[in-house]
Amino acid sequence: MKAIIIGAGIGGMCAAIALKRCGIDSVVFEAVKEIKPVGAAISIWPNGVKCLNYLGMKDALRAIGGPMHYMAYKDYQSAETLTQFSLEPLVQDSGERPYPVARAELQAMLLDNWGRDKVQFGKRVSRVEQQSDSVTAYFDDGTTASGDLLIACDGTHSVIRQSVLGHAAERRYAGYVNWNGLVEIDESLAAADHWTTFVGEGKRVSLMPIAGNRFYFFFDVPLPKGLAEDRRSLRDDLSRYFSGWAAPVQHLIAQLNPETTNRVEIHDIEPFARLVHGRVALLGDAAHSTTPDIGQGGCAAMEDAVVLAMALQSNSLSIEDSLLRYQLKRADRVKELVLKARKRCDVTHAKDPAVTTEWYAGLRQENGDRIISGMCETIQGGPLA
Ligand code: FAD
Repeated sequence: MKAIIIGAGIGGMCAAIALKRCGIDSVVFEAVKEIKPVGAAISIWPNGVKCLNYLGMKDALRAIGGPMHYMAYKDYQSAETLTQFSLEPLVQDSGERPYPVARAELQAMLLDNWGRDKVQFGKRVSRVEQQSDSVTAYFDDGTTASGDLLIACDGTHSVIRQSVLGHAAERRYAGYVNWNGLVEIDESLAAADHWTTFVGEGKRVSLMPIAGNRFYFFFDVPLPKGLAEDRRSLRDDLSRYFSGWAAPVQHLIAQLNPETTNRVEIHDIEPFARLVHGRVALLGDAAHSTTPDIGQGGCAAMEDAVVLAMALQSNSLSIEDSLLRYQLKRADRVKELVLKARKRCDVTHAKDPAVTTEWYAGLRQENGDRIISGMCETIQGGPLA
């Protein structure tokens, strides 16, 4: 059996590694000549960590993961701690620790595991066509590639998605802008082993430790889509949006490098039930695009890859039926993750200000139990729980 994989992001690389693990050959095609991940870092929660362990990257992941042992919420003006607790109960419950990692290091780890020279870069697929016993990808450069099945890991703007769904899926603006980047760890910003988040006015400023003595930081602000803001105005924009916020937030704005800070308008896509059509399967953001509010988009792609490989291991099912089995195992799970993130997004970003005010008040009563139990519930839904 030979699989064609389109896209060499988290989803494509995990799919290729997972299929190899169960004896299926893949060829990976990637549109760009060199992958430059959009975004500075991501948190890999225990459900994603278990998938990477299963795919043979246990030690490599630990080497790039940050020492995140506690979680804290702070008041935006006074920096008073609203709640602070250990993440150890999460580790005990799920059996793994979460690892925040730099995206570039995660991407390098995946590429190295698979083999960089085995990815065909600069190959942008424009369409796919299915025959009775094969599937063909057509590339912008006029070439084609055929295989027994095709896994579309071409991200949220997937060009293959429409041929699976039979209709286009519109991206939905979630109502906020996220800026993210990396800075050196400095305890005047936050404690080095904490995931610290300042909250107020429907906005967030968050810092998470990654390896190499760095914080992954992000700022969220509810804003209209399409504002004329870029790197040149970045520091002034953040200073304006976070005027009156506590000293650590002002330090962070002063310390960040606008040249390496990303500005992203956050979107998701209404979940859909169909993830496969014949010999073609969607995986990762092509199959489910979520807001990053519960940090699960990449973890879900890792889960998809593991489940897909498990489904394709069957000796008794045809390729089409194995892919339907993948869909059966994944569609509800990914729908739940997208909707859970959307709900969290609305609470955090003051879609209804009264609900957000209530959430801030609730944080003062929080001892960690409720937050950790919500995280554990999400994690337990993974395939290797
Ligand atoms: P992508 O990473 O988009 O990769 C798609 C690949 O396909 C790209 O390399 C692209 O060049 C290639 N491609 C596209 N079109 C074509 C084509 N036509 N032909 C060939 N190749 C093509 N997830 C988490 O788990 N934890 C987090 O903490 C987290 N934080 C996030 C924070 C932000 C601000 C954002 C925006 C997302 C976050 N995510 C997080 C989500 C995560 O980044 C995505 O879910 C993940 O990157 C999806 O991987 P993917 O491989 O499906 O898609």
